Amino acid sequence: MIYLDNNATTPLAEEARELYTQALCEYGNASSVHALGQAARKRVNEARERVAGLLKIPELSLVFTSGGTESINAAMLGSFLPLGRKNHLIVSQVEHSSVLKCAEFLEKLGVAVTYLAVDEEGRIDPQAIEAAIRPETGLIAVMFVNNELGNIYPVKAIGEIARDRRVPFLCDAVQAAGRFEIDLSRLPVDLMAASAHKFHGPKGAGFLYIRPGIELSPLHLGGRQERGHRAGTENLPSIVAMAGAFEFSLKNLLQDERRIQRLRDRLETGLVERIPQFVVHGDLEHRSGNTLNFRIEGIPGESMLMNLDLAGIAASSGAACDSGSIEPSHVLLAMGLSREQASGGLRFSLSRYNTDAEIEEVLKVLPQLVERIRAVA
Ligand code: PLP
Repeated sequence: MIYLDNNATTPLAEEARELYTQALCEYGNASSVHALGQAARKRVNEARERVAGLLKIPELSLVFTSGGTESINAAMLGSFLPLGRKNHLIVSQVEHSSVLKCAEFLEKLGVAVTYLAVDEEGRIDPQAIEAAIRPETGLIAVMFVNNELGNIYPVKAIGEIARDRRVPFLCDAVQAAGRFEIDLSRLPVDLMAASAHKFHGPKGAGFLYIRPGIELSPLHLGGRQERGHRAGTENLPSIVAMAGAFEFSLKNLLQDERRIQRLRDRLETGLVERIPQFVVHGDLEHRSGNTLNFRIEGIPGESMLMNLDLAGIAASSGAACDSGSIEPSHVLLAMGLSREQASGGLRFSLSRYNTDAEIEEVLKVLPQLVERIRAVA
């Protein structure tokens, strides 16, 4: 299998697997006072120290969670509950469903939501955010990197506006953490969500950064774990493996980034040359080096995806959690594509484990598949 669906999830790094399996045998509860419990507590604290150090934030501003979705839910719902005077939310139309579903839920509770439009390349204009801010705005949520397009959003500019207007800013950095250098001592972000399985860590693990001074109502009630932000016994193996994977990813970042982008560019150029009516989507100037989102005019994404799968190539037709449904991508629709065009959307996303030989194979197979499908159409 040639795995080109790394924005959906990434393979577990060997280093993370070792840490995970080792920690599985350490069965102490980090809240227990005996030596086994204290050993577990030490491991959780060390993991927190490592991740916080890499993000340049105080350790106590980091909350371990079960992943991106939980971090986002905790930040968004926790910002507005209990409902009060601050009852307006700003989100972009191209956010991940975990953000958009929270926005819809809050709307049902009476929070007014501004859904910011994007242009034909899926870009977000920070000035439009500024214009949307009201005295009662309680949160702005904009992602760092779009999971479908790879677009990199102007987080610094948005954060500066938010800070200036004293509105908390949540950044969904699920596609950026572990893939880009993020220095939160310099970036004006108040809440940031990340997920381990996007940077070669285990699934079901993530974190939420909460800038000191930002108030959030906890959604998980119970024990005092995570300083009351997230009750529940800590998932020690996942936390330890996530910290290891995060460190490992950042250590190799520069070298990996260059290699991955070179492979993606080769794939993109090769496909544009070989396939007539191959259209690349997104902001080509500000795009993650691992992502290629495109359509091939006249060919439905789902049928292409199945043919690729049969040929041993794993890709995606949009957000992974939406696969199985034939709804066209909300991101491509927001960019102004017709339903038919959006239904043709396909995504290749690469990681450090992809090779030149794999890209060569896709460059050979995909044009043949297109010819075959077009011949019978
Ligand atoms: N946000 C973005 C941009 C994502 O790509 C994803 C996962 O695909 C999530 C949030 C949800 O993360 P998790 O799978 O850890 O719940």
